[in-house]
Amino acid sequence: MVQYDTLLIRYGELSTKGKNRKDFIRRLDQNLRFALKQYPELTYSRTYDRIYVHLQPDSDIEGIRTKVSKVFGISSFSFTERVDSDLEAIKARCLEIAQEKKEKTFKIITKRHDKTFPLNSDGINRAVAGVILANTDHTVDVHNPDFVIRIEVREGSTYLTCDKIPGAGGYPAGINGKVLLMLSGGIDSPVAAYELMKRGLKVEAIHFASPPYTSDNAKQKVLDLASMVSEYQGAMKVHIIPFTDLQLEIYKAAGDPYAVTLMRRMMFRIAEKVAENNRCIAIGTGKSVGQVASQTLESIACINRVISMPVLRPLVCMDKVEIIDLARKIGTYETSILPYEDCCTIFDPKNPVTKPTVKKAEYYESRFDYEKMVQDCVDNDQAVIVKPQEEKESFL
Ligand code: ATP
Ligand code: MG
Repeated sequence: MVQYDTLLIRYGELSTKGKNRKDFIRRLDQNLRFALKQYPELTYSRTYDRIYVHLQPDSDIEGIRTKVSKVFGISSFSFTERVDSDLEAIKARCLEIAQEKKEKTFKIITKRHDKTFPLNSDGINRAVAGVILANTDHTVDVHNPDFVIRIEVREGSTYLTCDKIPGAGGYPAGINGKVLLMLSGGIDSPVAAYELMKRGLKVEAIHFASPPYTSDNAKQKVLDLASMVSEYQGAMKVHIIPFTDLQLEIYKAAGDPYAVTLMRRMMFRIAEKVAENNRCIAIGTGKSVGQVASQTLESIACINRVISMPVLRPLVCMDKVEIIDLARKIGTYETSILPYEDCCTIFDPKNPVTKPTVKKAEYYESRFDYEKMVQDCVDNDQAVIVKPQEEKESFL
């Protein structure tokens, strides 16, 4: 058994250089420490292409593994055992590890970073494989081995492991600026949050609630979803916007077919103002192109017209099945399908227009003083900070 004492984090060959690379590493380091903050016994060090987390003998390997697998910017990681960078020490330990394996075939994969080490990677592979072949029944299979021993030789320390665990990939959350994501209680928008975070964006959320037509359960569901996705970035600010009054006026002014279009246009106007007030440089939504009312391209165009801030729609070309698979993977699916109505389902019109025009939308909007109502919504923003896992929120 490899006696885990060091968690080795790889962030691969970065395409970023210079200052960007420094920022990347600094932010990754910060996010990693934040993700592992419940393990105060851990200590950290880093080189230009690795972060090392120094474990204690009683460290909770499974718990740490779960946390680390959610940190964006990590290409892969391994729980390793440190030995001195000395060929005899490496050979001896690799032999012991191999002797305990019941499986038959093996392969040695060496990465020699320390160019002063007397053997190159291939030389180390041969030397270690040689001692295993001479002292066990194992045989080498370079194509389809039953087990692999990885050896990473650094100045002074060498790290041995049998596993290489895929990381979450992407960029460290928060490195690429802040987005205000429109978060409903549905399946799509939490997945959109995950995709945006994966691109290194910090996500804040805005949710439109229409009490008493929508219940406290519906709001709690949104906060629970926010808490789940915040695992990927740390605490998340969620703006809850009381939307009832404006929504009722929309229905009076526009009637059935244009109500959804106007409602979306108002949501965008409010979101843009909240974004500006909170230093977000784009809006995000879980929208994908489809066939129902507000999903047609005409509809997206008509809704988008009211704001100038860029709108990021990470799911725009994804199939529902792919979105559901991702929702399952990040653990939001079961909560998303809970049957609490959100503001859109309550006021669901019977015959929504599928190809709205800007002209008609503007005509209906001219029938009431929406600007003041939009501003009221912004002023009555109830922001909540949602944290990973622990369902604690503190009102701002
Ligand atoms: P979702 O599963 O995310 O609810 P959907 O498939 O139901 O998406 P729509 O109802 O058309 O599609 O919503 C599209 C997007 O509009 C959502 O992904 C979300 O970004 C935003 N949205 C809808 N309703 C709300 C709401 N009450 N509060 C905040 N954003 C919302
Ligand atoms: Mg929805």
